Amino acid sequence: MKPTIITDIKCFTLKPDRHNLTVVKVETDKDVSGVGCATFQFRPLAVKTMVDHYLKPLLMGRDANQIEDLWQLMSVNSYWRNGPVLNNAIAGVDMALWDIKGKLANMPLYELLGGQSRTAIPAYTHAVAETLPELYQQIDQRLAEGYQYLRCQLGFYGGSPTHLQTPETPLPGTYFDQNEYMSTTLKMFQAIQDKYQGEFQMLHDVHERLFPNQAIQFAKDAEPYHLFFLEDLFAPDQNEWLSQLRAQTATPIATGELFNNPMEWKVLIANRQIDYLRIHISQVGGITPALKIAHFADAMGVRIAWHTPSDMTPIGIAVNTHLNIHLHNAAIQENLPVPENTKKVFTHTPEAKGGFFYPIDRPGIGVDFDEIAAAEYPIVYRPHEWTQSRIPDGTIVTP
Ligand code: MG
Repeated sequence: MKPTIITDIKCFTLKPDRHNLTVVKVETDKDVSGVGCATFQFRPLAVKTMVDHYLKPLLMGRDANQIEDLWQLMSVNSYWRNGPVLNNAIAGVDMALWDIKGKLANMPLYELLGGQSRTAIPAYTHAVAETLPELYQQIDQRLAEGYQYLRCQLGFYGGSPTHLQTPETPLPGTYFDQNEYMSTTLKMFQAIQDKYQGEFQMLHDVHERLFPNQAIQFAKDAEPYHLFFLEDLFAPDQNEWLSQLRAQTATPIATGELFNNPMEWKVLIANRQIDYLRIHISQVGGITPALKIAHFADAMGVRIAWHTPSDMTPIGIAVNTHLNIHLHNAAIQENLPVPENTKKVFTHTPEAKGGFFYPIDRPGIGVDFDEIAAAEYPIVYRPHEWTQSRIPDGTIVTP
């Protein structure tokens, strides 16, 4: 095949709504360009610097057709590798290269990868409220929209404490009480089970808010509620506890949105210590590594539930949808509403219908990015308080 020469690489940062987003655009000599999601919403300028000052000079003039080789080159060229800044920058380029390949082939990404494994991928969305009556309202709305799976949370991650007792002059941060969180969440599971009688299946995200022994107790106590999965019981640096957890409970376990290094997932998959892998595709370097991880997980009976939060561009959402339509072991797709300004900048944003995401039948990734509209929404940095999570005595813990 004749080379498709890379003639320019641009990196855009924007904040059209709540989150800082990052997009990479790769241009070629064939009048075809591609776009990728490189969003690391807490450090957007670090990713932009990586793309503009390091990846662009490395890739200019090279053949965009050779995605595998370019991915390996981007990964090892800095010698030190696998961090979130480098991985997100690589992912932006990698997705853009797959987008270009799909457009040149005139095929949607899922077709390029080998076609469909299913008619549509089931979607789940979030139901979050401070009180049970408010939560029921949200659940009723979501059920009316067709969802069969809902992530149910009372309060923010770790719950909203009602009688927080801190020392004098507490440090700033988001406080939670682990014991109260576990107790109110188990009561929530019971109340939902009593009211809805299995009309839908619950999911829940612990967000690494418990100490390991508390997490094991919580997963065992959650067993009667038959969750679709229980997410992020442990911080990644406590993953060794998963083998003990697995030996003690049948509650399905999902984890992985914080992973960015193969050492973090290889052992868990090989030893079947989790049920669902939640990897954030741009955080591991894009479509090229995500495919390899998913195939490895498939062989071990581990299913895929890519992280699809609101701090991701519609390009990233579409990539997840293509992979979920294609991969045999894809299980479910997270879905959060895409706000209005974001939809103005990104057209053809995938949307769930009746609780499912359907195949995207446009060439490549299928989402168009409007550079001029993006320029109207400059990024804004603020020190995030929720990543300064503290337990009552003031100790900072994983968010
Ligand atoms: Mg999560």
